[in-house]
Amino acid sequence: MKKITIAIDGFSSTGKSTLAKQLANHLEYVYVDTGAMYRAVALLAMQNGYINAESFDTQTLINSLPNIKLQFKFNPDLGFAEMYLNDVNVETEIRTIEVSSFVSKVAEVSEVRTKLVEQQKEMGKDKAIVMDGRDIGTVVFPDAELKIFMTASASTRAQRRYDELVKKGDAVTFDEVLANVEERDYIDTHRKDSPLVMAEDAIEIDNSHLNREEQFDVVLQLVNEITKTI
Ligand code: C5P
Repeated sequence: MKKITIAIDGFSSTGKSTLAKQLANHLEYVYVDTGAMYRAVALLAMQNGYINAESFDTQTLINSLPNIKLQFKFNPDLGFAEMYLNDVNVETEIRTIEVSSFVSKVAEVSEVRTKLVEQQKEMGKDKAIVMDGRDIGTVVFPDAELKIFMTASASTRAQRRYDELVKKGDAVTFDEVLANVEERDYIDTHRKDSPLVMAEDAIEIDNSHLNREEQFDVVLQLVNEITKTI
């Protein structure tokens, strides 16, 4: 079967990564979670004190970009690739609410985006890839054969993220998670560089009322239709 590029964009906690992982496993494609890359840069900025609740020293972060090494390493036990920042596995640290609260500000910095987008384009140059993020269908792979744009109501998304965090033992409240989801939506859709918008040729999927399997079946059908025609 002909290999294609699948771009999955959408708001926070719409289940993009769940769908992307299912597709990649089924099709034997590479899966890339670009949010993890922005989260890793945000973690580095936090660890080095470039960003905190009061201030953000963007210039120092920009100066340190050449020394930031981001890699995905496949973990066969988990069945997906984990994020490494300067050779350290940061897969757990990047998922905290603290990182979530800073990541969108870090992702507004054009120099950060340029570096990460370059690396993402390189990862997808041989196709057979499922990449999820906010600008994949518009900026990273504007020629992707299949573009999906995922939406769901903010409260549905906050509930999903809240359940995940509580399961991991994080002490968060639902209101805190909802506020974070809404703040990230705002910053992601209003930033100057590569704001979150649906690509003209993307297919929108509102999964407020779809379960994982239903959503997967809808998208797999689209993949099959496309690979038949090319
Ligand atoms: O997908 P996830 O929620 O982990 O992404 C974290 C944040 O990284 C997003 O809220 C967004 O600010 C940023 N991001 C981005 N462009 C991408 C992927 C993520 O700006 N392609």
